[in-house]
Formats: sequence, structure tokens, C-alpha cells
Amino acid sequence: MSIALQDRFVSDLPELAVRWQAESAPEPRLLVLNTVLAGELGLDPDWLRGPGMGLLLGSDVPEGAAPAAQAYAGHQFGGFVPRLGDGRALLLGELTDREGRTRDLHLKGSGRTPFARGGDGLAAVGPMLREYVISEAMHALGVPTTRALAVVATGRPVYRETQLPGAVLARVASSHLRVGTFQYAASTGDRALLTRLADHAIARHHPSAADAEHPYLALFDAVIAAQADLVARWMLVGFIHGVMNTDNMTISGETIDYGPCAFMEAYDPETVYSSIDSWGRYAYGNQPSVALWNLARFAEALLPLFDEDTERAIKLAETSLHAFQGHYDRRWTAGMADKLGLPDVPGDVVGGLAGEALTQLQQNGLDYTSFFRRLAEAARGDAEPVRGEFIDLATFDDWLTRWRALQPDADLMDRANPVYIPRNHLVEEALTAATAGDLAPFEALMAAVGSPFEERAGLERYAEPGQKEFTASFRTFCGT
Ligand code: AMP
Ligand code: MG
Repeated sequence: MSIALQDRFVSDLPELAVRWQAESAPEPRLLVLNTVLAGELGLDPDWLRGPGMGLLLGSDVPEGAAPAAQAYAGHQFGGFVPRLGDGRALLLGELTDREGRTRDLHLKGSGRTPFARGGDGLAAVGPMLREYVISEAMHALGVPTTRALAVVATGRPVYRETQLPGAVLARVASSHLRVGTFQYAASTGDRALLTRLADHAIARHHPSAADAEHPYLALFDAVIAAQADLVARWMLVGFIHGVMNTDNMTISGETIDYGPCAFMEAYDPETVYSSIDSWGRYAYGNQPSVALWNLARFAEALLPLFDEDTERAIKLAETSLHAFQGHYDRRWTAGMADKLGLPDVPGDVVGGLAGEALTQLQQNGLDYTSFFRRLAEAARGDAEPVRGEFIDLATFDDWLTRWRALQPDADLMDRANPVYIPRNHLVEEALTAATAGDLAPFEALMAAVGSPFEERAGLERYAEPGQKEFTASFRTFCGT
């Protein structure tokens, strides 16, 4: 089949792209293919499984395609790194999907590029399947995210603490423009390049900004709104990104770069899983303020486009940044209203009840996800499953009485509260088996988290939190 891959990024922004080729794979073997997503992209799954597998590895790209490593900078844990870029990834090009949307086709683990620094440019099967399962679970939960198209084992060993099987992830995103992309462009001092990048971002993601009185400020406002919305959704599902560096924050508002991410189990704002986040900078409860900090770094990059006068530009940026909290609060409260089955109750009442419930979850050490699902049973008349979890029952009963008096909608709650999330112990179990050659647990987990809201008999173990001891010592890793 013939694939039309465009080279919009490379031709609009050649200064930010290094044309490059993927390394060939000695013994490619398809581990998982997202047939639904392939269909959306107009790619024939049977072709991808056979003669088209080279596309998923970057070894066989269509005529005219211009694969490239993208340049970006970024604040990593607060410190600015002027040159990061795709060290082990390539943008193959853009596809127009069945709905006419432009989507990046991108590879991760495709070999060293000029941005690789000390890295080997490779990725192991486990971490690539990890991105696959968690990003697809996020999509099924309704959270904007890059998508996973396929993971192909390369047959090449990758050396980490041990020797591991290598793999390439093919992922799809509405773009790979990051805050760090703007920081890189700004740091060159080339104002024309920064303007071209901003115009490219407006055209791709926030076209209405082009008609605004001040297009670049409108772009900034749109990104603030998109990021506030995104992080509120993370908080609502208990997702911890783990490495919210500015190079991992998209302009589109999609979640990107699933490295040390994980889902919180027992509710605790201080939850951190990442082995490298020793100060808890990217703890669950810090995510909204980190997003705002990252947006302030975005503003710094955009200042020359806001106004010739730096003082005035800073004032404009500050005014825009003030809107973040309102966007965040509105999305979070609306999401909590659904989770509590109270769509028509005033936001301050919902916020108050939600805050009290979260305090009680924390004090009683209760699992965040399953609490809300059990609570729906209480809305239907059976409060025992949820009551049975609490140590401090008197306080909870008082809450329960006030909440029930508002006549919560149990069906709405079931549509808002997942039964199945990619729980850490299940993800680890699936990846360990897959690394050893058994994909069955991975496929079973994918089937569970692919339809997170629909409770099914036989999947009980996918709904349970892990053992407390497992969760307490669980650590995730970055750039693995
Ligand atoms: P990440 O933590 O995955 O967002 O990556 C941060 C930076 O490190 C990016 O510039 C990556 O391209 C780069 N990187 C991570 N792992 C590798 C690797 N194995 N080889 C080369 N570059 C890497
Ligand atoms: Mg990254």
C-alpha cells in the first residue's frame, strides 16, 4: 500500500530538525499492533503486520518522507538544558487521518541520533510496552494523550543493568511540539525562527488564535487552557506523570513521554514513584503547580513575540498565567461532580464534599480509584462495600449522609469512575512476562484497561489495588 507521509515540520522548521535514518533491526517481530488506531490512520493492519512492518521500524519509509530527529531544550528538574532533542526517537512525518486531522508518526528506540549524548539510542521491550499500555489506558479514560500504534521487538539486545530485548515503539501524536521546542528556538536568538514556530503551532493546534487581535498571546492562552485541562484530568484519574520537565509538556495539551509515570493507589498528594525524583518535585499533588511553572517558562520563551517592550511583555504574560487556576478549578470541579454523581450541584458544594472525602481517604489509607466505584453502590442503596473500608466510620457516615441527601446519580458515577486502571503490580507482572517472551498477561491487561468503565465478570483481580508492601517499595525509572 502507498502511504502519504508529509514533511510539514521539517520543511517549516528546518533549523529544528536533523534529517536522520532509523537503525535497521536484525530480527523484527511485531509484539503488539493497535488495529483500531491503524484504521483511524488509514493504515491496513494486515499490511503493517507483513510487508509494512518496516514503516513501524523506520527502516522502510515511503518515497519523499523525511524522517528527522527534532531539536528541543528543556528544564529538567528545574535546571535548564539548552540542547536535548530526540536522542533515540525520530519523527517519520505527518499523516492525515480519516477525519482529516494531521498526526505525527514517530518512533522511539530507533537508534542513536546527533542528540543522543551518552545514550545508546535504544529502548527495551518492557518500557516500550509500558508506554503502550499506559498511554492507551489514558486514552480509554478520556485523557488527551499521544497514542501507541505498535511495538516491534528488534532482535537487538539492549544493555541496562542486565541484557534486555530491544524494541521500537511507533507512536502517534497531534504533534511533538513541546514547551522545550520553544525554549530551544528562543535560545537561538533568531526571532524569525521563533515566529515561524509559533505560526506553525497556531496552524496545527490553535487555529482560532490566528484571528485574534494578538495571535501569540492567544496561542499562549490556548496552551494555558489546554494544559490546565490536561493536568486536572490527570488528577481526577490519579495519574502521576513523574517527569514533568518542560521538554515533556506539549503545546497540544496531550500527555507525552510515559517514562516513570504511574497511577496512585492509596490517596496521598505526596505520592512519588520515580526513582530519580528524590525531592518529590513531581509528586501527585504538585502537578498543577509544576504545570504552571512550566507555562511560565513557556512565557519566557514567547516574550519577544508578546511585545517589543520586555516590561509590557511580562505584564501580558502574568495576566494570562493568572487564568490557569480558574481553568484548572473548573475542570477539576466538573470532573469531581461527575465522580460524585452530582452534576447539578453548585461547584463550591462539590468542591467542599470532594475535599472532605479526599482527606478521609488519606487518613484511612484508602485506594483512590476503587473508593469512587464502591461509592456508586452506596448511591444505589448498598453502602456496606464502601463503609467496610473505613477505620474512622463516624466521620465517613456523617459525610455519606450529607452526600446521599443530594441524590447522587449512580449511573453517571459508573461512567466517570474507572474499574480498571493499569495498576503498578499488574503492569510489572505483564512486562516481566513479556520480556521473557510471554505476551498473554500484557494482552489480558490491555483488554481490561481498554474498557475501563465497564465492569466484567472474571476480571476482579484487575480491579484490586496491589499489596501495600508492593506499592510502598515500588519505583519507576526514566529514559530506560
Ligand atoms: P525522556 O526522559 O525520555 O523524556 O528523555 C530525556 C532526554 O534523554 C531526551 O533528549 C531523550 O532523547 C534522551 N534519551 C533518553 N534515553 C536515551 C537513550 N537510551 N539514548 C539516547 N538518548 C536518550
Ligand atoms: Mg521526553
